Amino acid sequence: MSVFSHPEFLGHEGVGHEGVGHEGVGHEGVGHEGVHFVHDPASGLKAIIAIHNTVRGPAVGGCRMWPYADEGAALTDALRLARGMTYKSALAELPFGGGKSVIMGDSKRDKTPELLRAMGRAVDRLGGAYVIAEEVGTTVFDMDTVATTTKHVACTSAGSGNPSPYTALGVLRGIQAAVQYKLNRNAGDLDGVRVAVQGLGQVGYALRHSLKELGARLFVSDIAPDRVARAAKEFGATPVAPDAIFDTDADVFAPCALGGILDDRTIARLKARIVAGAANNQLAADRHGAMLAERGILYAPDYAINAGGVIEIALAKKGDATIRERVEGIRATLLEIFGRADAEHAPTHRIADRMAEDRFRRAA
Ligand code: NAD
Repeated sequence: MSVFSHPEFLGHEGVGHEGVGHEGVGHEGVGHEGVHFVHDPASGLKAIIAIHNTVRGPAVGGCRMWPYADEGAALTDALRLARGMTYKSALAELPFGGGKSVIMGDSKRDKTPELLRAMGRAVDRLGGAYVIAEEVGTTVFDMDTVATTTKHVACTSAGSGNPSPYTALGVLRGIQAAVQYKLNRNAGDLDGVRVAVQGLGQVGYALRHSLKELGARLFVSDIAPDRVARAAKEFGATPVAPDAIFDTDADVFAPCALGGILDDRTIARLKARIVAGAANNQLAADRHGAMLAERGILYAPDYAINAGGVIEIALAKKGDATIRERVEGIRATLLEIFGRADAEHAPTHRIADRMAEDRFRRAA
């Protein structure tokens, strides 16, 4: 079935699609459990909640607010992001399934407390199958507002808070693992390694701070010029125009903005021998993972390297003190993926997929 253009979407308060499989977004063989369309005319909320899989536990995943071009783009993003969360939580062996939500709108212009409370009510109607958290375009304070209308919320200021520092720590460990593996450096050594960071938001900021401390040379880009200027001033980073970041003569390309940035055009331009960054869904399509491997570029699968935040959500909830240790474990997971990919002559993203699928299918 096609769930891309739902003709009634704009006119209904809520439309649920349970058990739909979907085609056309590159996720062969694994359908979503449910896709829920939300429309609240009073607050102007238009959102989609996608639940991919709840076999290992509730579908935990952030709520992205973005000015999507149309509903199809929003739906594609929600479906891909939700699937990524299933794989991320399974690979990290967390008791979570995978889900994600998207709100259509400009977070700077359209976000209001009424809209966030309406989103909380929509999440609440799902009875805990989906647990909302912060993502691009939403914040810890927004989750505090959402928490006034649902208890199925993470990343509140009274809860685990902002996941970005732990995400950045995991990405740092992932970059170190990739540099050790591909560039034959000693474990952890980043001295003089040239890193091109795309996106200087919450994760990008924390990451470039640690990279600088470890002696890496930074090249930075963002569509917000003030963020680039700040990175240049604070960290001596070399500013690069947004589109030119792919051509940067760097050792590591670290995508920390939005997804879908690794495609036929950009992969052909990459000079870096490693791709390792925080962004979700970096591959425009599944085949681009193989294309990276064919070009001899080591790809740290996105949901493996960026799991630090969801690890924190899972453990902080239980008051577990081992968060840092588990996030540090991302290094070992990636070294295992890299080793198996070489041994089995397979792209790294396929190995990660197999490991994750094994974990959530075993749970089923
Ligand atoms: P953020 O919104 O704080 O930052 C994103 C930054 O990317 C912004 O500064 C934005 O201006 C910039 N940007 C957007 N398009 C760009 C482009 N074409 N070129 C250059 N810069 C561009 O988001 P964040 O929380 O730092 O997350 C970054 C990425 O990491 C997202 O893809 C997110 O889904 C993923 N991620 C984040 C976390 C987390 O804990 N925050 C966890 C896992 C994955």
